[in-house]
Amino acid sequence: MIYANNPKLKSWMDVPKGSDFPIQNLPFGIFKTRYLSAAAGVAIGDYVLDLVYLHEHGYLDGLDLPAGIFNQRFLNGFFALGKNKVREVRERVSELLRNDNDELRSNAGASEIALIPMTEVQMLKPVRVPNYTDFYSSEEHATNVGSMFRDPKNALLPNWKYLPVGYHGRASSIVVSGTPIQRPRGQIRPHPEEPPVFCPTHKLDFELEVAFITCRDTVLGQTIHTAEAEDYIVGFTLFNDWSARDIQQWEYAPLGPFLGKNFGSTMSPWVVTLDALEPFRVHGPKQNPHVLPYLAFEGKKNFDIILEVQIQPADAAEVVVCRTNFKYMYWNINQQLAHHTVNGCNIEVGDVYASGTVSGPSPGSYGSLLELSWNGEKALHMTDGSTRTFLADGDTVTIRGFAEKNNIRIGFGDCSGKILPPI
Ligand code: MN
Repeated sequence: MIYANNPKLKSWMDVPKGSDFPIQNLPFGIFKTRYLSAAAGVAIGDYVLDLVYLHEHGYLDGLDLPAGIFNQRFLNGFFALGKNKVREVRERVSELLRNDNDELRSNAGASEIALIPMTEVQMLKPVRVPNYTDFYSSEEHATNVGSMFRDPKNALLPNWKYLPVGYHGRASSIVVSGTPIQRPRGQIRPHPEEPPVFCPTHKLDFELEVAFITCRDTVLGQTIHTAEAEDYIVGFTLFNDWSARDIQQWEYAPLGPFLGKNFGSTMSPWVVTLDALEPFRVHGPKQNPHVLPYLAFEGKKNFDIILEVQIQPADAAEVVVCRTNFKYMYWNINQQLAHHTVNGCNIEVGDVYASGTVSGPSPGSYGSLLELSWNGEKALHMTDGSTRTFLADGDTVTIRGFAEKNNIRIGFGDCSGKILPPI
């Protein structure tokens, strides 16, 4: 039983209607202020609750937390304490914020220092990411890409329904929401009969994804069964796997994505715990053919999370270009982690495992411009009268996501990045 998830809970903190961060969410992040270089915090409404302050002033006594565990640049050390400890901290924070609890509320001095308006903090990348893997687990996305570049009749490659296809991405260029992305240059081949040219990408794209974060190390040779995968997964962030389609298309054979992907990926700053998303579990699509035994699983392993992407041109209002749902994913996170480790590959605390582009069944639910514009054939209309097939300099792309039930909205906060002129 996770008490912090009770939909009846109310906080003495004012949480605006439609906020991503009601008392039932309580995601973890790293923030800095004018006075603090980096500290762990929890989001509540429009405020960040400073965990360093709570810890140092006895509000977390009894949880047996190591000294300085929240006074760090990344959440890795905290997450490495394990899911039970993370759960205990979330439950205790929930207790402190409940409207029937006076411990923090009645101490005006303490609550004033511990609760910092979000407008006064800068969110930092929440985890040090040792490894980043990107999957390709949306059947609709894989089908769309296969239809465009190969054969609509055989859009999925023969392996696709037998294993969660993935590749190893670049961890060093993962940035937090709000970090600008410079348009990359690279080799492209505009004319199939002529040699390639070196220039800024003409086909800069976003990929709407959700990433899970791991909280335990394994050793080489160790495997993780689907049934135990969630012991290793602490939570999710939103994720934009920016892509330069023209660079990608020329370079990808035979080893897959490289410079078309590794110039930058953006993660949202709040790690929403798997615990907070418990009420939003759903069954995934039926898997046919049957998967091999090591990929078999039981229970609801998909999550009903509404996702959308907005594009805002430099001097115009934003427009929603995609609405979809994380529940459509064919392969679930348990299967992804089981597959990733079935050969003995070791994982580390803070690893990022992105879902692959999340596309739904209808054209308005496609999670990339490649699909929305059908590789440039169909233009999207912006609010200023301009059109897009791919991203323009000055565009800001924002991914938003939330789960909602019983008027409780468990949101992620923005995953946003602005495109700057070429490097
Ligand atoms: Mn991707």
